[in-house]
Amino acid sequence: MTIPVPLARGPRRGLPPTHFADLTLSEVKNKMRELGMPAFRADQIARHYYGRYEADPLQMTDLPTGIREAVKDALFPQLLSPVRYIEADGGATQKTLWKSPDGTVLESVLMRYSDRATLCISSQAGCAQACPFCATGQLGIQRQLSAAEIVEQVRVAASTMEKGEMEGGPGRLSNVVFMGMGEPLANYKRVLRAIRQITAPIPQGFGISQRHVTVSTVGVAPAIRRLADEDLAVTLAISLHCPDDELRNTLVPANNRWPLADVIDAAKYYADRTGRRISIEYAFIRDVNDQLWRADMLGQLLHRELQQMAHVNLIPLNPTPGSEWDASPRDRQDAFVQHVRAQGVTCTVRDTRGQDIAAACGQLAAEEK
Ligand code: SAH
Repeated sequence: MTIPVPLARGPRRGLPPTHFADLTLSEVKNKMRELGMPAFRADQIARHYYGRYEADPLQMTDLPTGIREAVKDALFPQLLSPVRYIEADGGATQKTLWKSPDGTVLESVLMRYSDRATLCISSQAGCAQACPFCATGQLGIQRQLSAAEIVEQVRVAASTMEKGEMEGGPGRLSNVVFMGMGEPLANYKRVLRAIRQITAPIPQGFGISQRHVTVSTVGVAPAIRRLADEDLAVTLAISLHCPDDELRNTLVPANNRWPLADVIDAAKYYADRTGRRISIEYAFIRDVNDQLWRADMLGQLLHRELQQMAHVNLIPLNPTPGSEWDASPRDRQDAFVQHVRAQGVTCTVRDTRGQDIAAACGQLAAEEK
């Protein structure tokens, strides 16, 4: 099955050269043979990369000095460089703006909580989905990210945690969410490769639990079904934002292509195949989608179609510059939660992080441009 990729609105530049993290371990072994090196070198490199978060072959001291340069040239081209770091929430939130050699900019955000550390990563530079409340949606798409560009965001954050370069001392990166820039299911093959490498046990990958990886989507229904058949246990989050097609067509333009019934049907299939509860995201926007009748309608829809397999996450809108929209008041938020729950569907309000550092999806990259 081929997944239709939404048309790019901006120029589409080429992907970076192949990197170690684009490849599976067996592909790296083949590469080693091509280079005239024994295949076991692949395992050595993989232990450095996935086990110690080391991506510079010159530092891989168990490789013979004579081959370190060759490995670097063949498998470790320069990918992302950090151009800005911003901290918030007393250092418990760290946002990084990355730039690739072709000038592409993207963001990732590391958030530390008492019981976990979550990294929010980008899957595309920019986004073609054009959701009007989202800063990335206003940027348009620059290009797809390679699997290695996705994996590298994770490696660097895992290293930051391990070295204790974040408030709270050394720890472990436990969760990864595809909630940064881009629509992950519109970059399907590379995102899937990245997921496998993020979750495979060391030395094939970082060994992060599949259940602790969340793929968030506007609702690319055919790709949701395809993901359901991949034999993975990752969490699926759907950016519903609205229980009716008319408003959703404007809030999430992809709805014109895959309307609610199709999206919910795909979500059901995902829940059936994986046994995983679907996370339903609802950006809460004052006087736009915050009516209590919509809460009732949302609760009824989800209870009818997914029963206990849906959980609603209310995200108070993080206003983007130039937009007239803002978050609904707190009392409306509380009432909305109660109305959804009254229909038998669990509902919580997402903790908002980094509001003071323009952490809304794509905001920092928009400023940089
Ligand atoms: N393209 C994917 C993932 C990226 S955004 C998707 O749409 O799901 C991750 C989540 O943040 C989505 O639910 C998105 O709708 C939401 N979001 C984007 N901009 C926001 C803002 N300004 N305030 C609150 N939530 C926002």
